[in-house]
Amino acid sequence: MSTAPPPDWLEHEASWLAPYAMPSRASRGRRYPEPPHPYRSPFQRDRERIVHSSAFRRMTGKTQVLVASVNDHHRTRLTHTLEVTQVARTVARRLRLNEDLTEAIALAHDIGHPPYGHAGEEALDGCLAAVGGFDHNLYGLRRVDELEERYPEHPGLNLTFEVREAFAHHSKRADAPEAAAFRAAGGPLLEALVVDVVDGIAYTTHDLDDALGLGFIALDDLRDVALWRAVTDRVHAGHPGLSGHALRTAVVRELLAWQVSDLIAETGRRLAGHGVRSVADVRAALAPLVGLSPDLAAMHAGLQQFLRERVYRHHRVLRMTANGKRVLRALFEEYVRSPELLPDRHLRRWAGADAVAGPPAAPPLPGRVRVESLERVVGDYLAGMTDRFAQQEFRRLFHPSIDL
Ligand code: MG
Repeated sequence: MSTAPPPDWLEHEASWLAPYAMPSRASRGRRYPEPPHPYRSPFQRDRERIVHSSAFRRMTGKTQVLVASVNDHHRTRLTHTLEVTQVARTVARRLRLNEDLTEAIALAHDIGHPPYGHAGEEALDGCLAAVGGFDHNLYGLRRVDELEERYPEHPGLNLTFEVREAFAHHSKRADAPEAAAFRAAGGPLLEALVVDVVDGIAYTTHDLDDALGLGFIALDDLRDVALWRAVTDRVHAGHPGLSGHALRTAVVRELLAWQVSDLIAETGRRLAGHGVRSVADVRAALAPLVGLSPDLAAMHAGLQQFLRERVYRHHRVLRMTANGKRVLRALFEEYVRSPELLPDRHLRRWAGADAVAGPPAAPPLPGRVRVESLERVVGDYLAGMTDRFAQQEFRRLFHPSIDL
């Protein structure tokens, strides 16, 4: 019998969390059970495992909208992730949700994105069509469950059910077998819903800022965007005559602040209006519990429409995405044709590896499963690459050279 006192974070959660927040003590736990930590909650440990993962660091080199190397001013996946995380924490704290869980989900929410943003995802989905396609959320789940190698005792990061389920709920593949166990537990937690809505608010706001900064659009182009006009009026009320760069930064800041305050107020109203009093109520809810008020949601949709037409389809973005797709497709075909070109660690995940590379030098560690489909192994390898690494690999494979 242990005589250690109960961990102090349990008391803190019990006194602080709202009844609809996810408490650590109710977690469905980890795939490989671990003893509790004396002063870190399970979700705090998840957060730290995610930050120490290789997939997290690689988000520095992954495209948000533009290739990560265009210049040093616009967002990458990593800076986007940090923006989402801090806003989501603010919202969670204000609503008395579990901030540690919210933070872990936010930090992990984009780690499954392949290089070259959504274009990269489309290319991989096409390459892998015969074996079930590619979805960045399901890949993110594979990443934390299998592909990250940090422990000899088990594959992956051994995260809690509640952080892992966020990937499954966010996936567009509701029918995927690996998502079934999570969906059976009911709908998503408020902590995951907050991250989802904040993600949308954050990227719309900062993509607009980046597009202005890179000169894809000018302030005048935003004349007919209702949300931009409304926020500009609010800024001009306090600072009449503000223009140019000073106006842009003030409007972007106000745009984010307004949406976040609205999100907190509207979500509070919905939780009260639907009589949500427990995690079970959250899981059973049919109506969306987290969101912007109707007026602001309509204006937000207008801004998204503008970005789709004027930024995401800008010729410089399309040129970059067309090239990114070409790089990934060429690499995919080459590795499937010649699997011996794969690094050993990736090749060994494939069930047919021994025929190509001979028997492995050491027996596999516990819990590591070999994958039947070479295409899936190649797809997972490509999805883990940064934009720059994929380009380098393309050059090494297809440009005449004798470099190692
Ligand atoms: Mg995101």
